[in-house]
Amino acid sequence: MNIRLQILLVAVCGWLAGQPVESIAAETGEVLPRILIRNVSVWDGTSDAADPGRDVLIEGRLIKAIGNQQSPGDNVMVIDGGGRVLIPGIIDAHTHLALPAAPTEIHRLDPGYVTALSVKAARGVLSRGWTTVRDIGGPSQGLARAIDEGHLDGPRIYSSAMFISQTSGHGDFRALTDPHPSVGSGANAFAQRYTLIADGPAEVKRAVRESLRQGATAIKVMAGGGVSSEYDPIDTTQYSVAELRAAVEAAADWNTYVAVHAYTDAAVLRALDAGVKVIEHGHLISESTLKRLKADGAYLSSQSFGFIRTYLANQPSSRARKGMQVVEGVDNLMTNARKLGIPVAFGTDAFGSFRAYEAAPREFGYRLRWFNSLEILKQATSHNAKLLALTGPRNPYQDGPLGVIEPGAYADLLIVDGDPLGDIRVLEDHANNIRMIMKDGQIYKNTLD
Ligand SMILES: [Zn+2]
Repeated sequence: MNIRLQILLVAVCGWLAGQPVESIAAETGEVLPRILIRNVSVWDGTSDAADPGRDVLIEGRLIKAIGNQQSPGDNVMVIDGGGRVLIPGIIDAHTHLALPAAPTEIHRLDPGYVTALSVKAARGVLSRGWTTVRDIGGPSQGLARAIDEGHLDGPRIYSSAMFISQTSGHGDFRALTDPHPSVGSGANAFAQRYTLIADGPAEVKRAVRESLRQGATAIKVMAGGGVSSEYDPIDTTQYSVAELRAAVEAAADWNTYVAVHAYTDAAVLRALDAGVKVIEHGHLISESTLKRLKADGAYLSSQSFGFIRTYLANQPSSRARKGMQVVEGVDNLMTNARKLGIPVAFGTDAFGSFRAYEAAPREFGYRLRWFNSLEILKQATSHNAKLLALTGPRNPYQDGPLGVIEPGAYADLLIVDGDPLGDIRVLEDHANNIRMIMKDGQIYKNTLD
């Protein structure tokens, strides 16, 4: 629920050079609500330090102005930040809100039940101060629409809709007794909702087009073995260059991009050869492959897997063994990325259980092994926003930039107790330390009163 704050009527002069105290939207004639956040130390998402003693005016869903000790004008809601730090809302570059249960189990569950769990997960994400997620696989587009239409509280969602996987690939979650979707009598419910199984360039193009038709903002292709699937070992390379190139071309026709799931040198190099510009994971790649990624101007969207390491330690399954294979590569990948100056997009790969979503903020602390707090905060805000912007005209949020605090940007803002630039872990205790959460100019939490 949004918190209704007291509206302070202050009949003084207008904000910044006597602008009118209420603003009329040019296109609709609608009166836009205005909120003035006073006395905050503004960290803008890109700078190396915060700027103290600032006031930020929000008009409608956007930041209107950043000033200094200005009078608010009439009919402006005022929030006193008390000198605390104001930062952009956190962005998760890799999550799966449509997978609140394990991929191998979810097809046994009632779809309505799964959706209800996704709604709860989305609400939880926003309550932690994460105002945007890149939902990189799984049918989250309906959830995104419901949130954008104001039916429920949650983050902005950049949905990739259905995964695209080859037969036997990381997205092929069928049981061994399930028929192949195009060999036999139809796939099981999970495959029909979660993964488009496609083999050969023509089928891959069709799958990309189908995913875009369903509302994908970007395309997620499984290009190598994965942990959560049962029948594809980690070392497997999935899809040929021709198939991956077909995906890239079909996405480019819609002016958006392909991101691939890939852990190994072979899978990542093949994807880069095909023109893929976003690599998800990459935990087992060498320094030379990372150099190639950098030379190609590709993004690395990876995770510390700190939570998964703890979780897997108690699991005897073959999937857990695959997971440990991947986790062993984390330190090498992150160390090399830091050395080469590659900004690793901040993501968690949360899925499978509420424990995973709730553990997501611990990614901040896990990354301190390789990056300092300021670097992590930039990854989780302005850098992730650049990655989101690769969606071009498929970007659902076209009115301003995300991940920064500047005039014209979306008003996705957090007021934080403590100094997240000096110690990012203050954001892990979000319940106590994040005092105000604003998304799209609306207040979802405020404990400053
Ligand atoms: Zn994932």
